[in-house]
Amino acid sequence: MERDARIYVAGHRGLVGAAIRRRLEAAGFRNLLLRTHAELDLTDQAAVRAFFDRERPRYVFLAAARVGGIHANDTYPADFIRDNLLIEVNVIDAAWRAGVEKLLFLGSSCIYPRLAPQPMREDCLLAGPLEPTNQWYAVAKIAGIKMCQAYRRQYGFRAISLMPTNLYGPGDNFSLEDGHVLPALIRRFHEAKEAGAPSVTVWGSGTPRREFLHVDDLADAALFLMERYDGEEIVNVGVGSDVTIREAAELVRKVVGYPGRIEFDTSRPDGTPRKLLDVSRLGALGWSARIPLEEGLRDTYRWFLEHLAEIR
Ligand code: GDP
Repeated sequence: MERDARIYVAGHRGLVGAAIRRRLEAAGFRNLLLRTHAELDLTDQAAVRAFFDRERPRYVFLAAARVGGIHANDTYPADFIRDNLLIEVNVIDAAWRAGVEKLLFLGSSCIYPRLAPQPMREDCLLAGPLEPTNQWYAVAKIAGIKMCQAYRRQYGFRAISLMPTNLYGPGDNFSLEDGHVLPALIRRFHEAKEAGAPSVTVWGSGTPRREFLHVDDLADAALFLMERYDGEEIVNVGVGSDVTIREAAELVRKVVGYPGRIEFDTSRPDGTPRKLLDVSRLGALGWSARIPLEEGLRDTYRWFLEHLAEIR
């Protein structure tokens, strides 16, 4: 990609989009096209088409999505499926119509079957039933992948799809109810430390396993693939190893410096038992993650402390 090419980062205020923007700016890209949600509603087809017609970006990173943790997915299924389908249909189609040269779409590891063999290879997509708690989001993301593949086949549109594992990092949603596990736990342990509370409650049994990727690593992989990969096959992006929720909670406790106990609330859902990605396809292309979980958590906790006033 030319350093002065017009690049549209859709969703630049979100966890992923913000990291992609930082990565692009650090690499010297100086012609980024950015629109806040208030400036451009990506669920509005006419507005999205008009935007692409007028601005004519050359490259698109589609990082806009409605996202949330296990509880949010379970509580707002209609919002998750509708908004994600609309964003994908509108942006991918408008990008192709406006002659965009290449588009990168971000999926999620939850697109894979609930009981897929671990680590999960790209070819297990649609090989079995989905995890029910986030099936709405997963179905929308699968539709996005299929759109990219269909537009490539029928129109020769160069759209690629990345499947990141569970992400965390600066700029995350630290909401206790609607956030993902790591930011929710950072906040809960921090508040318990401040209040001198004797224990912190972690949802579920603590036994599910999750793989966590720092969002700066994901952004680095996104730029790498945008520049060096051009194929129909989806590409997993992960670190290649996972931890139990109990281990993750212990690590957050250590990073926050909370001295109390950890308790598990088994009335809360565990979700899928394990979702570790097979990252050999990405490894063969020449990329691997660099930020260890503990270091990434320290960085995220630092960001949390610096932004306490604005945190939702
Ligand atoms: P998932 O990977 O799609 O299931 O998304 P989450 O990040 O929401 O949840 C991951 C796992 O962490 C699940 O097993 C949850 O039960 C567990 N968990 C433990 N405590 C929390 C919490 O405070 N918030 C969330 N979201 N998950 C938690």
